[in-house]
Amino acid sequence: MFSSPAPPTGLLEKLFQYIDLHQDEFVQTLKEWVAVESDSVQPVAHLRQEIFRMMDMAADKLQRLGASVDSVDMGSQQLPDGQTLPVPPIILAELGNDPKKPTICFYGHLDVQPAHKEDGWLWDPYTLTEVDGKLYGRGATDNKGPVLAWINAVSTFRALEQDLPVNVKFVIEGTEEAGSVGLEDVVRREKDRFFSSVDHIVISDNLWISRQKPALTYGTRGNSYFTVEVKGRDQDFHSGTFGGILHEPMADLVALLGSLVNSSGHILVPGIYDSVAPLTEEERKLYETIDLDLREYQNSTQVEKFLFDTKEEVLMHLWRYPSLSIHGIEGAFDGPGTKTVIPGRVTGKFSIRLVPHMNLSVVEKQVTQHLEDVFSKRNSPNQMAVSMVLGMRPWIANINDTQYMAARRAVKTVFGTEPDMIRDGSTIPVARIFQDVIQKSVMMLPLGAVDDGEHSQNEKINRWNYIEGSKLFAAFFLEMAKMHS
Ligand code: MN
Ligand code: MN
Repeated sequence: MFSSPAPPTGLLEKLFQYIDLHQDEFVQTLKEWVAVESDSVQPVAHLRQEIFRMMDMAADKLQRLGASVDSVDMGSQQLPDGQTLPVPPIILAELGNDPKKPTICFYGHLDVQPAHKEDGWLWDPYTLTEVDGKLYGRGATDNKGPVLAWINAVSTFRALEQDLPVNVKFVIEGTEEAGSVGLEDVVRREKDRFFSSVDHIVISDNLWISRQKPALTYGTRGNSYFTVEVKGRDQDFHSGTFGGILHEPMADLVALLGSLVNSSGHILVPGIYDSVAPLTEEERKLYETIDLDLREYQNSTQVEKFLFDTKEEVLMHLWRYPSLSIHGIEGAFDGPGTKTVIPGRVTGKFSIRLVPHMNLSVVEKQVTQHLEDVFSKRNSPNQMAVSMVLGMRPWIANINDTQYMAARRAVKTVFGTEPDMIRDGSTIPVARIFQDVIQKSVMMLPLGAVDDGEHSQNEKINRWNYIEGSKLFAAFFLEMAKMHS
């Protein structure tokens, strides 16, 4: 599929050789890190202690590399159930502060999703197990492997007693899977200190969309989550006693939800597409070369037919156009059996994935206005209340920025191909936080393959991805230095 990369020369060759020769050590460290059950999702004291232990191990590793490490005390958090849990520290570390070099800040997280053997794992999720070049274990790809790959790249320069071509900073947290507790505060607080010298931010916490072709991610969608409540009264009704004489709240709600999107996936809220960035020729071309077999994707996801027939249309509607999804109805009768209830009060839930340059408050107004218009035509005496309960903005980067150019060259050097230039249809708030607060270019440079199964049973990272990914980061440092000089 790819031309084989030109053989590296000079320093690059030495770095790659070192990484190849020491790959078992790198895998061994990943094994030690995966062995820590740093689950931040289940609110249990002993698991929190494991995250603290994980953060200590990482701080220690960075110190041994010669980095100055600040483990920021995050205090504790109170959970909705009243329980108080300690919050693991956020590591801010730096290596090198030569004003002549660019400073790259790497973000990663070392907490993981829950995993139990009984969930359907073939092996113990906390014992890294290698089968056919695949390294299975919770956190292998999300996100311990990529964090270590970055550290491997740095440590290779150290081991060869080579000057690091860039200044490197690290932001490593331990509650990403639980909403990044306190991260935004720390970034804001450190804006003029730790982050003042940062030129670029790199995140490696997502996946390629291919099994073998690398990718660079330059955008994510935002999200606006709505509830629409229709209330007759607080109590339910009996359909034998009231059926036929009521404006039923559920009928109102179904009509409201049914007015949001048509059978082609087109959102029916007036004005909603007005500010969507127009598609340029340059952008359209990016979609043509992306490695996605639509037929295979349909089969692997067990979807009979998508709304669109071409790879380009499917990807554009996942990445660069908004979508509206209806999620559920609170208060509806959803159990088995044939209860003849007329719910007295129901709440519909839906969300719109936002793209550049949609604006949260404009979307909120448009949706509210639309629902009010539809509702008023029903002449219903029920009460309707709309609210936007969650709003996260989309993120988009300039792919002509220095670090994107450098990363494309590094990919070409290591993998012999241009990367897929991709976006992510979901929302990754941390990219937007860094972009808004530090106002520097953010790039996502993923290492994992599309079938890594993050959050799922038998999560893995391929040894190849982990080792070539370590090389990729080393090559990226050199390319950054070249572009800077
Ligand atoms: Mn992650
Ligand atoms: Mn995750």
